[in-house]
Amino acid sequence: MPELPEVEVVRRGLVPHTVGRTITDVSVVDPRSLKREARSPEGFADALRGNLISAVARRGKFLWFELEAGALVTHLGMSGQMRVRHADKVGAAQARAEHQGPAPDPLRHRRITLTLDDGTQIDFIDQRLFGGMHLDRFVDTADGYAGGCGSDTPQIPACVTHIARDVLDPHMRRADVVAAMRRRRTPIKGVLLNQEVLSGIGNIYADETLWQARVHPLTSAQDVSAVKAGQLVDGAKEVMLRALDAGGTSFDALYVNVDGRSGYFAQSLAAYGRGGKPCRRCGKPLHITKWQGRSCYHCKQCQRTA
Ligand SMILES: [Zn+2]
Repeated sequence: MPELPEVEVVRRGLVPHTVGRTITDVSVVDPRSLKREARSPEGFADALRGNLISAVARRGKFLWFELEAGALVTHLGMSGQMRVRHADKVGAAQARAEHQGPAPDPLRHRRITLTLDDGTQIDFIDQRLFGGMHLDRFVDTADGYAGGCGSDTPQIPACVTHIARDVLDPHMRRADVVAAMRRRRTPIKGVLLNQEVLSGIGNIYADETLWQARVHPLTSAQDVSAVKAGQLVDGAKEVMLRALDAGGTSFDALYVNVDGRSGYFAQSLAAYGRGGKPCRRCGKPLHITKWQGRSCYHCKQCQRTA
């Protein structure tokens, strides 16, 4: 599942192809990707046509295009991709997609296509249909700061207001996040996954962050010291910045950049997906603990329950 670094790679990939361009046409290939949209597919297309894209912004795992009509919110869900096709390369890209790339024939799962005024096409591709797009209204941010990374506008899509700021957001207040974490009696792993405390972290980066800070995933959050909680916030940021440098984690081959390239951070993971393999710190085999249906990869030696 794409987490913050993967969504940020997609956002950065979209900016040069979309900002300053106008949407001239919208094709809804599969209306199931509009499940959060109140309009009909035709109404959705009508509402988008003619809109200038002024920014592509992100908070946590939510991505949105700033339009005059509102926010075109895109959530990649489990398997969503945004792919850029240029008018002069459409045929070549399609031919190449049939023979190589991490997801064979990605256009088979194309759900929505936006056509821009220079002929560029942006495809929303989603094999498993957990993601989607919808046009939302903007509301003012509660703290008066920019709504997300990539925009200076102090507004946020209405459906994203409950999502906390993430570790790459300059307006995230570290002390508030630490306090919010330590008020909870649930396992710290669950608190890291709680998008209303700190956004953008999913199963992969939660395990990496806990391993880095040497905290056992099932430690009750209220038993994590303020110093350790601060280290978790800092550690999450550090691991996400490294992942961003590597183009993200393409763990199941469903996540790719806007041009179809995979990220290569999977090979740098210290915990996630490494059950039974030696801990990169102490050499003991990593354990897998199941918690609420999720696998928690951790080192019993280095990550002690508090
Ligand atoms: Zn270890």
